[in-house]
Amino acid sequence: MNLVTFSKLQQLSEQNLPNIAKAKQEGRKVIGFYCLYSPIEIAVAANAIPVSLCGTRNEPIEAAEKVLPRNLCPLIKSSYGYAATDTCPYFRFSDLVVGETTCDGKKKMFELLAKFRPIHILQLPQTQETDGALSFWYDEIVKFKKKVEKVTGVEITDERLSEAIKLTNQERKAKKALMDLPKMNPSPISGIELLTVMFKTGFFMDKRLGIALMNEIVDEFRRKGNPAESPFHPKTPRILVTGVPVGLGSEKVVRLIEKAGANVVCLENCSGYRSVFMIDENKEPLQAMAEKYLSTPCSVMSPNPGRIKLLDELIEDFSVDGVIDLTWQACHTYNIESYQIEKFVSEKWGLPFLHLETDYSESDTEQLRVRIEAFLEMVKS
Ligand code: SF4
Ligand code: SF4
Repeated sequence: MNLVTFSKLQQLSEQNLPNIAKAKQEGRKVIGFYCLYSPIEIAVAANAIPVSLCGTRNEPIEAAEKVLPRNLCPLIKSSYGYAATDTCPYFRFSDLVVGETTCDGKKKMFELLAKFRPIHILQLPQTQETDGALSFWYDEIVKFKKKVEKVTGVEITDERLSEAIKLTNQERKAKKALMDLPKMNPSPISGIELLTVMFKTGFFMDKRLGIALMNEIVDEFRRKGNPAESPFHPKTPRILVTGVPVGLGSEKVVRLIEKAGANVVCLENCSGYRSVFMIDENKEPLQAMAEKYLSTPCSVMSPNPGRIKLLDELIEDFSVDGVIDLTWQACHTYNIESYQIEKFVSEKWGLPFLHLETDYSESDTEQLRVRIEAFLEMVKS
């Protein structure tokens, strides 16, 4: 990324919190979300500001462990730790916090979180396949809409929802265009650069600014799509990372893969490709939202065929040479599902596969480095 674009990204990121503080003073509400199942369009339609609260850093974990078990997913501990230590400005700004009944750890943590902020729990079905799941989820979204109307004092009409959907779809389109850049071989952009742009723009209060900046970055990289300018070589191993969400602060595995000489060309997780499923703009808005969100292929669903289907498409589209499945420690759903993912990757695609289980600390960095380097040797051979 050129320096001008990078400094623009930095500048807009730094301006974000003051902008939210100002908007709050002027009466706008802030609604905090933790998960990709969250229908943020409801907040957007009520002129509230949706913010992501998912903890991606190690710092607040020590404080969280005073209340939560040590043997718990770092994402849950980090999210709780930020709230308990009052060190996340986005949490502090939130007039309402939204949790979903996804994995056991998260839903029990939300019970404890309720002492810090008003919380609304969306009861998420555990399957996408039974007839009742979608109508149950639809009703949950209707209840959430009523709650947001009460908090914001804004009536959320279908027109407002349709406008919100158009905006978030534009954001998904821009994100997808960005994530599609590494389809070029060699890729003009590194996995770390991609992650940085998506993570930072994901916090922008004004989604239009994030969309414009992502489109600008895509144009910049397309213009210099000259292989000679790529940081990679056509023979650089092209790695797909699947599994748990990754953000700045929890990106050590992506960093280690690229330091070891490979290129993370695709992230099949909530920070990557799963976040760009579009909402059908031709359907009744709440129904279209219910369908889109319930189809998110997370391991908390049983069964979870959508993840295999998505992986199948991405492995082909990105000409992937190897797959790394990342699981946060004590995440049972991703840990168990890894068996099926490995089977699929090796039997259908005959590709090398590596399952890594880690946390947000740096204590196992050396061990991870050795395993990743050995894996990449296998990919190259
Ligand atoms: S991995 Fe699953 S539970 Fe975690 S943010 Fe994504 S959808 Fe939500
Ligand atoms: S990574 Fe696993 S344990 Fe952690 S919040 Fe997501 S689903 Fe739950």
